[in-house]
Amino acid sequence: RRWGRIAVVTGGNRGIGLEVCRQLAGNDGITTVVLTARDEARGVAAVEKLRALGLSNVVFHQLDITDVPSVTRLADFLKTRFGKLDILVKNAGIVGLEYLQDHIDGTPTTNEEKFVGMGMDQRLDLLLKWCLRATSDAGKVCLRTNYHGTKRVIGALLPLLLASDDGRVVNVSSEFGQLRHFGNAELARELDDVETLTEERLDEVVSTFVADLDSGAAPESRGWPAGAFSAYMVSKAALNAYSRVLARLHPAALRVNCVHPGFVRTDMTVNLGLVSPEEGAGRVAAVALLPAGGPTGAYFQDRRQAPF
Ligand code: NDP
Repeated sequence: RRWGRIAVVTGGNRGIGLEVCRQLAGNDGITTVVLTARDEARGVAAVEKLRALGLSNVVFHQLDITDVPSVTRLADFLKTRFGKLDILVKNAGIVGLEYLQDHIDGTPTTNEEKFVGMGMDQRLDLLLKWCLRATSDAGKVCLRTNYHGTKRVIGALLPLLLASDDGRVVNVSSEFGQLRHFGNAELARELDDVETLTEERLDEVVSTFVADLDSGAAPESRGWPAGAFSAYMVSKAALNAYSRVLARLHPAALRVNCVHPGFVRTDMTVNLGLVSPEEGAGRVAAVALLPAGGPTGAYFQDRRQAPF
């Protein structure tokens, strides 16, 4: 049996991911959107929301990108059901401080209760508190999710993407991952030299960062991006470099691109972003839907190609 184009979105239950699912499902060229979420109840509820909008081509599958059996189950499902994958939107990601959102002022909250009734000043105050509580543990969870988790998902789904006649990977990255944030110019150059760079070397760079986190030294004193978002920035820079290496290894069979969605009003930004989820997700979907034979190993920002 032949299928049309199949898309998978990670972290599809809320924020940018949910909106990417909606936009892809509404595209004529796409037969099925697999909305994945780590929490089954939240994922199923999100699918129901989209179905209520008349989008009957959205199906749910559980996926926690940090959980090996979960990733394997998704790969098996796709293989059995479709035998290929055309579009992977790797959107799931964390700053590493989100767990603090669940305890606003020490009181556990649910997803729905978050930020309800909070004024702008309270939300800014909350954001500041998170920044002050950036710990090495938070940084490690961030790298485990954004870098190692993403690599695991892409690795597991790669044979299915290669089975497509126009396989695409879209990594939802961030301008925080741009190499200009690195104080160590030599390292920035190395991460930019994708002809020479290897996955093994990238893993090594990330391990060095984690060791530096554990040492308690200020990240900028070792040439890493400065500030509370240092781990997030390293995770996105490493992810960008990984995307470029992957693009180099599969120049004809795969399009692998990165995109910065803008500063978007979602839970991640405590809804303080400047761009609506519709616009942010639109920038992501546009890269997923680029005409065949388009760029690979590229980075997009403000709907244009830009330097890494
Ligand atoms: P949200 O915090 O609103 O949503 C994050 C999504 O990722 C949720 O669906 C969450 O699931 C999911 N997720 C987190 N960890 C995992 C995991 N281990 N396995 C599977 N899913 C997981 O963030 P946004 O929508 O704002 O961000 C989406 C992407 O866009 C991220 O990669 C982020 O880095 C990037 N980005 C966002 C910007 C912004 O301004 N918002 C700017 C630049 C980049 P759950 O509901 O279960 O927690």
